[in-house]
Amino acid sequence: MFNLLIHSSLKGEVKLEIEADFVIINANELVTLKGSSEKPRIKDEMKNLSIIKNGAVAAKDGKIVAIGETSEVLAKLKKNFEVIDASGKLVTPGLIDPHVHLIFSGFREDELEKMAVEGVTYLEIKSQGGGMPLTLKKTAETSTKDQLEITTQILDKMLICGTTTIEAKSGYEMTYEGEIRQLEIIKILNNTHPIDLISTFCAQGIPPEYESKVDELTDEIVEKWIPEIARRNLAEYADVFCEKGYFNVEQTRRILIAGRKHGMKLRNHCDWLVHSGGTRLVAELGDVVSADHLIFTPMEEVEALKEQGTVIVFLPTSPFCYVGTYADARGIIDRGLPVALATDVSAANLCESMQMMMTLAVLRMKLTSAEALTATTINAAHSINRGHEIGSLEVGKKADIIIFDAPNHRFFPYNYGINLAEKVFKNGKLVAESGRIVK
Ligand SMILES: [Zn+2]
Repeated sequence: MFNLLIHSSLKGEVKLEIEADFVIINANELVTLKGSSEKPRIKDEMKNLSIIKNGAVAAKDGKIVAIGETSEVLAKLKKNFEVIDASGKLVTPGLIDPHVHLIFSGFREDELEKMAVEGVTYLEIKSQGGGMPLTLKKTAETSTKDQLEITTQILDKMLICGTTTIEAKSGYEMTYEGEIRQLEIIKILNNTHPIDLISTFCAQGIPPEYESKVDELTDEIVEKWIPEIARRNLAEYADVFCEKGYFNVEQTRRILIAGRKHGMKLRNHCDWLVHSGGTRLVAELGDVVSADHLIFTPMEEVEALKEQGTVIVFLPTSPFCYVGTYADARGIIDRGLPVALATDVSAANLCESMQMMMTLAVLRMKLTSAEALTATTINAAHSINRGHEIGSLEVGKKADIIIFDAPNHRFFPYNYGINLAEKVFKNGKLVAESGRIVK
């Protein structure tokens, strides 16, 4: 993984020399989050970021090779490496966004404004030809070439804001060919864009012609779509919009069990608009990796997930934009469940910045800044089964590292609405700097 050269000095001392491509030095706060690769952090562990003051982190061939106080790290390194000075700045692991409805066409900014300003309801918008049916139609009409361009722009914005890995869902075509196309686009982007994309088949929008026939749509998904998606190895996860007006609990159960049978791991949308029973289903299934939203879930149903290690993913944008009610994040953390944060980027509202999610988590959901940063790094990594590779700064892990133009992690809720990410490293390569992509 990296080269250790052992030299014996005249006095017989053994000195380790580590080769590095670059080293970031003098970080005011170097947030490591070390020691949590096996399990997500819970309760008070979430408040401990394992910070090194005046810290340094060195990388070689895309991996972290040394980390510690600046003088210590410099003493270990073999000569010939680039030095990046992070004096006065915050350095963290790359941010991870574990819930993204990535592939869609047609923005709906007019609808959001109508809902926010005029109090128009989503159902009224839908009856006038807007909402999800509009996105399904526009996405289906968009060529793969155009879709790649549209989505690359979203990924670029994520990257310049410090996001280095995302979970990417399909779900905005909801036909057999359309969903396979969406997942193929995710596969292409995973190869062409610096961000790592973890792919999920998401049974999401109900096409208008199936509105009164969701059972038939479920039959098709279970019998035809999932086996073919699995055969082509296009999705690591299966996920369902288990929600009033979308898939009910029984339909969700069938889809998730089909995903499991075909080798997919599971995640689920639960109790987002009403108490629909999705969380109870997650408890029953027992092996669901992440349960997302949980806005209207009674606490006893949340607690039922505690023993199975499911990570709860909070999505602060939908309460911020239109639901109004936030999940009881404080209560859920205090009861010892692991939590992560995500943007829920979708056609309905669009915020690519995980920094903004930390702002909302602190100012609206009563997480501390440290808990919010844990939820966007190591816990987010566990919510996509990547705790061993990313989410913390430790020797051997991917050199996904962000230098923020901020003195400490408490700046995320304080200096908000702007991009604080100054340098973004993905796999040890500088990929964004001062708000621009580095080619
Ligand atoms: Zn979602």
